Amino acid sequence: MRRFPDDAACADHLARKRWPKGFRCPVCPSEKGWKLDAKPWTWECAACHRQTSVTSGTIMHRTHLPLRTWFLASHLVATHSNGISALQLQTQAGIGSYKTAWFLLHRLRKSMVAPDRDALAGVIEVDESSIPFRTQHEPVAGGQGRSPIGKLAIAGAVEVYDDGSPGRIRLSTIPDFKRPTLHGFVQRVSLPGSMISTDGNSGYDGVPDRLHHAQVIGKMPAHVFMPWIHRVFSNLKRWGLGTFHGFRKHYLQAYLDEFAFRWNRRKWRGASFETLLGIGVRIGPMPLKVLVTGG
Ligand SMILES: [Zn+2]
Repeated sequence: MRRFPDDAACADHLARKRWPKGFRCPVCPSEKGWKLDAKPWTWECAACHRQTSVTSGTIMHRTHLPLRTWFLASHLVATHSNGISALQLQTQAGIGSYKTAWFLLHRLRKSMVAPDRDALAGVIEVDESSIPFRTQHEPVAGGQGRSPIGKLAIAGAVEVYDDGSPGRIRLSTIPDFKRPTLHGFVQRVSLPGSMISTDGNSGYDGVPDRLHHAQVIGKMPAHVFMPWIHRVFSNLKRWGLGTFHGFRKHYLQAYLDEFAFRWNRRKWRGASFETLLGIGVRIGPMPLKVLVTGG
């Protein structure tokens, strides 16, 4: 709050992130322009005179919220170990409606996946799981008779370093547990030459260009020899129940992205606020309609 005392300070910060080498016009090749005094956080191109708001074409496109609210929400989401629910954010940031807080958080989740992020490498624990979801009006718990509880398939991967500690993770919703689906997940999240470590599910056999280490150790529970992916799955499920009272089906991938974002930056919480803003100004807008209908 001290570092960004007003929206002008936030806008200057965003401008430095968006145009690190100085203003660039988004529609013509010009690299010259000036900041307008009359319009908040808007630059005008010296060549074509097009006016560009620092937020236009970013995840904050056409926002009606104060930039300070975006910054506060980004900080809370990036640094709280459990993130924040829309209801908590609405209260803490003084946002007028629940839906506005909810939409803001979803746009931040969109900013949690760097478009050019690298695939995992080295030894990677891979497993699949199912996660309960809730319907719009019914919680996960309860559900006598006509149960609202459904299950969604997910796949997860964790890098394991030489000293046995965990590195980065990837999480994805998947349509089923079939072999082509599992192969597709492994190929998306790992570099060729990686060593895939699984609990012996033959669905992971034969992924091209990956080594496969299937550990089938009698009746020993899988969490003993694949500790990290099981830790990830159990933390993820606990977070879903604790913070959101269960995930909603349509938005599950967004929650998986949020969980992975914080896990992957758990040692650099302070820097993750800057990462979130940095990705947010690089990716395009996400209109409410696209979020709700999926496109
Ligand atoms: Zn221009």
